[in-house]
Amino acid sequence: MGNLNLGTVECLECENSFSCRIGLSNRREQELNLSCKECGAISTFNISEMKILSMTGVKKSSKEPCYHIDLHLDFPVFEHDTHPLISPFMMSHMMGGEFNTSKHAHDMHLLNCISENIIDIKNTLGFYLKKKHKNFSRKVSSYLNIEEITPDSIQAEMLLFKYLFEIIEPFNSQESTNASIDLFLTKVKELSKTSNSTLKLFTDEIAESKFIEHSINDAVKIYQKILLKEVIFRPSLFLDHVDKPKDNKVPFLLSTKDFEYIGDLFKDISEVLSRQLVVVAGLNNLLKRNDHNEFKVTLSAKNKILEPQSLKEYADLDFGRKLSFIDSSWFPISSDIADNQLRNSTAHYKWEYDPSSQVIKYYPKKEGLNRVASKELLLIDYCKKVIESFRVFHEVNYLLHIVNLKSRNKI
Ligand SMILES: [Zn+2]
Repeated sequence: MGNLNLGTVECLECENSFSCRIGLSNRREQELNLSCKECGAISTFNISEMKILSMTGVKKSSKEPCYHIDLHLDFPVFEHDTHPLISPFMMSHMMGGEFNTSKHAHDMHLLNCISENIIDIKNTLGFYLKKKHKNFSRKVSSYLNIEEITPDSIQAEMLLFKYLFEIIEPFNSQESTNASIDLFLTKVKELSKTSNSTLKLFTDEIAESKFIEHSINDAVKIYQKILLKEVIFRPSLFLDHVDKPKDNKVPFLLSTKDFEYIGDLFKDISEVLSRQLVVVAGLNNLLKRNDHNEFKVTLSAKNKILEPQSLKEYADLDFGRKLSFIDSSWFPISSDIADNQLRNSTAHYKWEYDPSSQVIKYYPKKEGLNRVASKELLLIDYCKKVIESFRVFHEVNYLLHIVNLKSRNKI
């Protein structure tokens, strides 16, 4: 930890000068980036394991600095007119308090371990996708310190979920995942007691279509992506621990990478989550109407039937509409997750990003040749949205696994 004061530096492109301080993280490789406020040119600061700094895009300067920039991989940073005494770490400590700062430090330690083992983690998940179950089991057994087996496909899936439970901890607390798993098991057990034959119709249909296998494989690709890009999510994870002041005029900023780095993650997660909702909806129909294909009757103003006539039909609905057909869901999912406007804007490449202010401007409406109606979001808030939808996605993924176990009489 500690800080590296760079003094004054100037942009090699436009000679704009500013003072800069880097708060050190414990991550083995630290690459920090900033965009010149004058010309937008990107500078990069690399700090080696031996804490040796190399920088590109800027050089040391003896000029008077025009403003001050703080950089830190693990915490949000703020822009200042002059070099402030309080560092981003101290500021975050003041906002979060002792307990939350040490909780964040624990999560950052776990992310450091992930980044140091990322190739191994990618390979492990890659073995699962390629159905190299023996290799997969060898890797997971050694990671979890459990006995190695030669797994069949369902045993491999069980191992996968044990492994995910551990490696996803910095993104989603194990308490929260456990609470959801308990709820899923309770509901499935409840249904097998009261409506076993209709539950079997549902699990048979789901199992025959290989829907769960495909969805879990797609989910594994999301896990690979988010773990590979963990570095950009660090400050947003800290914001979990603080109440963001509503009238906050100073934007929270990130110190590495930019929107392009994770621009497609929200729509990718939304895509998989949208498919996963089929299982949430099927169980909701079973719990409320004892038939997984029967949705609550919903009529338009002109008495037109709006609800899907089967789960298959439901599967083809847009993400944004899917939540509305899960009437008083047994598993509450916030409608904020289904942000179709952000999803569509990023999916259709209708956005602009300003690296200096870190503002993403996106255009959610179809406007022909025009781009007028826009919405704005800070990069750090986009990261928060990705994490929030990832958490729901991660927990619902366990539901798919549990339904798969049920269809194979393993629970
Ligand atoms: Zn410049």
